[in-house]
Amino acid sequence: MLSTSRLWSALALLLLAAFASAQQKVLIPERLERPTVVDDKGVAQWAEHKAEQCPACVGKGKVKCTTCERYPDDVTQCLDCQRAESREATCRMCAGEGTLPDPLEKAACPSCSGASFLLCSVCGGAGGMFIGGAKQRSKCPACSGDGGWKCGACDGKRLVESAVLKPSLKEAKDKDLQKALTVTDAAIEQLSKFEPTGGQKARKDMKALVKMLESVQSTYPPVKRSIKPLDDFMSKMYAGSQFQGSDENEAATMKNMAERVSYYLKIQKRMIELAQKRNEANAQAAAGADPKAGKDGKDGKDSKGK
Ligand SMILES: [Zn+2]
Ligand SMILES: [Zn+2]
Ligand SMILES: [Zn+2]
Ligand SMILES: [Zn+2]
Repeated sequence: MLSTSRLWSALALLLLAAFASAQQKVLIPERLERPTVVDDKGVAQWAEHKAEQCPACVGKGKVKCTTCERYPDDVTQCLDCQRAESREATCRMCAGEGTLPDPLEKAACPSCSGASFLLCSVCGGAGGMFIGGAKQRSKCPACSGDGGWKCGACDGKRLVESAVLKPSLKEAKDKDLQKALTVTDAAIEQLSKFEPTGGQKARKDMKALVKMLESVQSTYPPVKRSIKPLDDFMSKMYAGSQFQGSDENEAATMKNMAERVSYYLKIQKRMIELAQKRNEANAQAAAGADPKAGKDGKDGKDSKGK
């Protein structure tokens, strides 16, 4: 069976590499802005959300499918574009809306990054592979040929809620924002250092990853909802662990998840910081400092830090 396994894994790895590089454009969290306006009482309020055109799809809601671009020609399925002739997939940055969501309210799902599905990393989403000298593809043992699974964290809706704070991310008190920021920072730091190896250590890796996700789950329900589907996904992968290359596959699956969650958390961190900035401007105004401080929320450099 060795030669069979080798061939099988070579194909799987090829497709995995395709997956790893097949990513749609993403936002730069640190550059996200959310303007404020100063009301007639001198209080900085969040400006009404202006739905800006999505830069990834320039308002079309569709982009070129990157999921299946390296599939062999005869593969007929793709969870992203269904292999439609246009090979266009829904834009993940705007969930197909053409305009960006209000980042104080919504963000791309931490589990799927707005794809709406988790791509099977054993078959790369193609659903099957050639085993041995077979002329026909066999169904992928991990996804049973489906190519992946509907994302359970967003229920396939692509966008999820932003940080859940009392009474809301927009109106939270400094103390609560600071608390959320501390756990968020810690999780981003841990996720960046997460280096899973898979194989015999896969379960241990998973335990460590789940712990990181759990550390922020009370502030971020979508992160909580990412855990169970990931666990199920990994269990399916363990089923194929007799194949060569499965260690790398397992490791990459966990690493990719860590990166997607981290991206979501970085956007949340940015929003928390902007909320802190607004609170600070208002505190200064109330203390009799320049009531125009923090106007527009754009001149934040001097009002930041604390
Ligand atoms: Zn496609
Ligand atoms: Zn878009
Ligand atoms: Zn599969
Ligand atoms: Zn999702």
